[in-house]
Amino acid sequence: MTTTTWHERAAALNADGRAFIDGWRVDARSGLCFDSLSPVDGRKLAEVARCDVLDVDLAVTAARRAFEDRRWAGKPPAERKRILIRFADLMLAHRDELALLETMDMGKPIRYSRSVDVQLAQNCIRWYGEATDKIYDQVAPTSEDSLALIQREPVGVVAAVIPWNYPMLMAAWKIGPALAAGNSVVLKPSEKAPLSSLRLAELALEAGVPAGVFNVLPGYGDEAGKALALHMDVDCIGFTGSTRVGKQILQMAGQSNLKRAWTELGGKSANIVCADCPDLDAAVESAIGSIYFNQGESCNAPSRLFVEESIREAFLDKALKLIPRHAPGDPLDEETVMGAIVDQTQMKTVLGYIEEGKSAGARLLAGGAAARQESGGLYIEPTLFDGVDGSMRIAREEIFGPVLSVLSFTDLDEAIKQANSTPYGLAAAVWTRDMSKAIRASRALRAGTVHVNQYDNDDITVPFGGYKQSGNGRDKSLHAFDKYTELKTTWIQV
Ligand code: NAD
Repeated sequence: MTTTTWHERAAALNADGRAFIDGWRVDARSGLCFDSLSPVDGRKLAEVARCDVLDVDLAVTAARRAFEDRRWAGKPPAERKRILIRFADLMLAHRDELALLETMDMGKPIRYSRSVDVQLAQNCIRWYGEATDKIYDQVAPTSEDSLALIQREPVGVVAAVIPWNYPMLMAAWKIGPALAAGNSVVLKPSEKAPLSSLRLAELALEAGVPAGVFNVLPGYGDEAGKALALHMDVDCIGFTGSTRVGKQILQMAGQSNLKRAWTELGGKSANIVCADCPDLDAAVESAIGSIYFNQGESCNAPSRLFVEESIREAFLDKALKLIPRHAPGDPLDEETVMGAIVDQTQMKTVLGYIEEGKSAGARLLAGGAAARQESGGLYIEPTLFDGVDGSMRIAREEIFGPVLSVLSFTDLDEAIKQANSTPYGLAAAVWTRDMSKAIRASRALRAGTVHVNQYDNDDITVPFGGYKQSGNGRDKSLHAFDKYTELKTTWIQV
């Protein structure tokens, strides 16, 4: 589609920001709204319902009723499968509409909203739909005078609280396994990008997910999010977001009804490139492409690059040549690879870290400033700091923007030690042609995912989540069912 056509579609966009409860679009009970502003150009996209504790009560009651009368959990798995696959098909049929909502709401380039976000999100729903009638329970090897069954049952009412960086995909990672397992869901998208989640709820209903089974409450974290985390009738909360809020979620679960609480949190992932890496060009391309993808707003972005000193100059030469390709552009132009930063707050945070890096003495080799200000939107140049020291804040804290910190090393064990020295443990990578070295490094790296000689491999079949303060849960793969099911043992006397 041409850029002009995307702009015409954006101009005609009529996004509905009302909540979705029990199969209906509704205003917040308080009648309050907030404006959703597009980071692409500052335009107002929608008035969004500012849900709070009253709406949370209504949605949880609807979800509980739907769970208890078994309108979803009681369906044969093959029927749930058919409905979820129809849901995925509808997402594909509405690919352009969903992609446009995502781009306008959070700023990512339209080419990726279409080819990555909608594509992966529908694939996730489809994959869990397909899994629904292929998972068997167990019979325990007990003595002859008894039969002991070990069965998975849905946990009940699942609250899902998600961030804004991949709004639709994070929603899919929660609702896919939660719905496939037979739960009812109340999803709270981020206040910064709620529109695609709301549309997903309508498509799910159209596909045949019964009313009340999938509810969406837009609103602020300390209002709707907190009310969900504290609710006495929510059985499980699946949270993706910052480590700071993740800690509060665990506390609120403990303070209320000990709901199962799963957290997928922040990261400061280390990418270690050894001098014997098999393909320096590929390592550079991957390091640069991965940190600037999604404007650097990826939890697993390799934001700390450790380069062996003997190849540091060659590496940086190549990197600096590539960086201009990632300059921010119009997110509605299909050629653009770097879009807008989600909002003013995030913009200030990222620019603040850039200033912090400069004053700490790191060498700014690329970027470092706001861009495209004439557009009315929020953009930052792809930024690279060399000469970063492990003690600097830009090497320790999650920036969540297009900023790469380069550190050099001479001893791999020392690099691994430094890589492990943050509170995070989401992802890491090592590049070397020596497989024994790669295996030793991948064993030593304390991270949920370790990449060897690439950074971008991803698939719904593998779990995703963190060690340490990157969280306690795993999204994706069949392991995600562990979060949304209870194990029941039934002893039968023979
Ligand atoms: P955030 O923690 O500010 O917000 C996440 C969600 O929590 C939002 O819906 C927000 O409204 C809600 N929230 C905020 N305060 C709350 C409270 N007191 N009680 C209940 N809910 C509350 O995070 P963010 O800025 O939206 O997202 C960025 C973060 O998400 C980054 O740290 C990133 O690394 C992380 N992330 C992690 C993964 C992963 O899989 N590990 C994936 C994507 C993003």
